[in-house]
Amino acid sequence: MIRQAKGKTPRRPPPKKPSNSQKDPVGVYCRVRPLGEEDEECCIEVISNTTIQLHAPDGLKANRNGEFKETQYSFKKVFGIKTSQMELFEDVAKPLVEDLIHCKNGLLFTYGVTGSGKTYTMTGSPGQGGLLPRSLDMIFNSISPYQAKRYVFKPDDKNGMEVQNQIDALLDRQKRDSQTSVPKTPTARRFDPEFADMISPDEACKAGGVDEDSSYSVFVSYIEIYNNYIYDLLEETPFDPIKPKPPQSKILREDQNHNMYVAGCTEVEVKSTEEAFEVFWRGQKKRRIANTQLNRESSRSHSVFIIKLAQAPLDADGDNVLQDKSQVNVSQLCLVDLAGSERTSRTRAEGSRLREAGNINQSLMTLRTCIEVLRENQMCGTNKMVPYRDSKVTHLFKNYFDGEGKVRMVVCVNPKADDYEETLLVMRFAEMTQEVEVARPVDRPICGFAAGRRQRNQAFKEELTRRLEERGGPLDGDSPTVLNQLLQSFPPLPPCEISGPNDDVTLPRLIEALEKRHKFRRMMVEEYNKTANMLKSVLQEQDSNLLSKENFIQEQRGRLGEKDKMIQNQKNEIDRLEKKSKMLEYKIDILQKTTNIYEEDKRSLQQELESREQRLQREMSEKRRMESRMQGIVTDAKLKWEKECERRVNAKQLEMQNKLWVKDEKLKQLKAIVTEGKSENREPQRPSREKDKVPAKRSASPSPVPTGPPVRPLHRRSHSAGGERWVDHKPNTNVDLDTVLQPNIPNSIKVNAPNEKALSKCDKYVLTHQEVASDGEIQTKLIKGEVFKTRGGGQSVQFTDIETLKQENPIASSRKRRSSESGPDGEPTEGSWTDVETRCSVAVEMRAGSNLGPGYQHHGYPKRRKP
Ligand code: ADP
Ligand code: MG
Repeated sequence: MIRQAKGKTPRRPPPKKPSNSQKDPVGVYCRVRPLGEEDEECCIEVISNTTIQLHAPDGLKANRNGEFKETQYSFKKVFGIKTSQMELFEDVAKPLVEDLIHCKNGLLFTYGVTGSGKTYTMTGSPGQGGLLPRSLDMIFNSISPYQAKRYVFKPDDKNGMEVQNQIDALLDRQKRDSQTSVPKTPTARRFDPEFADMISPDEACKAGGVDEDSSYSVFVSYIEIYNNYIYDLLEETPFDPIKPKPPQSKILREDQNHNMYVAGCTEVEVKSTEEAFEVFWRGQKKRRIANTQLNRESSRSHSVFIIKLAQAPLDADGDNVLQDKSQVNVSQLCLVDLAGSERTSRTRAEGSRLREAGNINQSLMTLRTCIEVLRENQMCGTNKMVPYRDSKVTHLFKNYFDGEGKVRMVVCVNPKADDYEETLLVMRFAEMTQEVEVARPVDRPICGFAAGRRQRNQAFKEELTRRLEERGGPLDGDSPTVLNQLLQSFPPLPPCEISGPNDDVTLPRLIEALEKRHKFRRMMVEEYNKTANMLKSVLQEQDSNLLSKENFIQEQRGRLGEKDKMIQNQKNEIDRLEKKSKMLEYKIDILQKTTNIYEEDKRSLQQELESREQRLQREMSEKRRMESRMQGIVTDAKLKWEKECERRVNAKQLEMQNKLWVKDEKLKQLKAIVTEGKSENREPQRPSREKDKVPAKRSASPSPVPTGPPVRPLHRRSHSAGGERWVDHKPNTNVDLDTVLQPNIPNSIKVNAPNEKALSKCDKYVLTHQEVASDGEIQTKLIKGEVFKTRGGGQSVQFTDIETLKQENPIASSRKRRSSESGPDGEPTEGSWTDVETRCSVAVEMRAGSNLGPGYQHHGYPKRRKP
């Protein structure tokens, strides 16, 4: 941004003020030149107006198997081989020129390999003017009616612009005119045949919206950067044909607004396209001469053509440029034709040339690096330092990237196969450049004067001339002037012929008349001046009135605009909200409906649930009732049956046991009867049953086998002083029958299985035995006997009598009787032994360690549950 500092004391604004948040990417365009006549293979295809496709040439394809054979690159726009210079200008440079005229800066550069058409694009050829001549032409077409007189604007040497007063400007102009070398008025397009007819008149362009109340001046500079040195191509150096002085390089400086400029660089004020061409051509010529003299190659230098446009508002009268430096705006458009982007190897440079080429590439490398860093900073939000200072080219243009302005690049490509690899690099750089963003230039504030000053001033002048002419009338026949009128209104002069040497009347009379005239004239001048001043002040007053009104109107308009915008915004917002509310209403409606449906569903479901619950409840209670009933029945039945089963089992067992017992007894009695005859000793016989029943147990016990029948006679134990002592044998298997009457034998040893120890101490034995009676009821028998000592050292019991205790169930007598009537073997179980039993006595021999006895059988029974 090149602008004059406002205010009297130059202030240094803080560096890198982000004046504008809006950014635009660097506009990158691609131009494909036609294939040269000598070239055959074409590597580039334009596939759309934004995309090109690169094909690897045949030779390269053989070596590169891994890489893509075809690559596509996209740009803001692609210009094919048929694109005319005019078309390119319309798209690429015209917007930049328009910006320039509206006080905005621009940078346009061409980039590409040598021979790709950079210079053709920038400069062009006769009849095929490039971007540069077309830009100049457009500028002058737009501003020429409003150009300031030469030297009104004068560059200071600090990249600023001053406004000279009229006198100084006039003096400078006169000085310039006196130098004969410069033609006073350039004749159209006659400077150099090379630049003649660059642009055909029908292609003339013009910018819109030029401020007519400003005055404009165009200044051009032309520099070359070679080997990282800057040379001024427009510098006027006295030419010494004998010893030509080598050109002096220039340095870069920063102005008070932190803009970079070439210090001491010539800035030539030009007043027409032709003059500007002439200056450019002068620079071109100088460049060519220097290159030949110093054996340089122009393709390795960067050329920079800078067009500066100074503009300042006209004063309130609309007559002259306002004498206020702070009101001067300077914008610039830089047109850069960069050096060829090829690598060093391709230039086949040697020695110092190699160093130069290296530097050239170095500056392009720096450009690349700067773009890379900028892109990274912008994309990743980093704050890496951009190495602008590493080369002159980047340093000079750092403000464009850091500050604001439009930046555009035309990438030129030659589709020939030789350039393929270089072109690939160019494409990559170009793609990367597109990702860099540059702050959009902002509009400059307008000056405080009313618009239309120039026109008013012109109209006023015309009107004044017209009026004077009207008043004048014809003098000398047909040229009416104000002077004539004035002369006529003076008193006539007296005759002025001197009659003789002594005539002292005529002269004094003449002198008097002339003095009168002179006085009259002075009076008239005074009058005129007074009137003029009055008129002027009235006009000024009117003007200022008008100005303030206009300002007021402007202000109101601004406000109105703001309000309008606000209203529009609010309307939009209302619209949006209305739409939204409608949408929401609709949604609510739908939701309501859905809710209703769901609620109905819910109600019916709830009803169903309730009815089902009731049913369930009913069923449950029914079930519970049934259950409890069943439980009752089951427990009843179970109890009954358990009791019954138990009773039956017990009865059966008792019956069987007793049967066995009785049989044993019978056998014994039989034996006793048999042996009675032989011997008077009545010895109780061991029941054979014992031997059959538990052979395993017997084998385990210490040899219980008697050697023979008991030989010792029965011997009654002597009764102790306390009377008889009883062994009260109650087997565990006995059922507790809640008998009220129970034998209570004093002085007895209670056992649940007869043992020798107890028997040895007692002389009486009683067994409490339960069995099933004929009616199915359990009856308890107390089988009594006497204890004797046997010959073998054991004890023997002789049963003497049986007491019977019996209970009766008054309810279930019939059924029980029926079941008891037939045993498992189908024959009556009692009777057959009860009478025998009562009649006989039983002897049981108990041995030490033996648990045989009447209670033995009970051991095998399952333990009884208490009812
Ligand atoms: P560079 O400046 O990139 O080295 P030039 O602009 O000097 O390349 O172009 C080399 C040659 O190609 C010139 O003779 C030029 O006239 C020609 N040329 C380049 N671009 C075009 C184009 N678009 N149409 C026709 N000729 C072109
Ligand atoms: Mg070139």
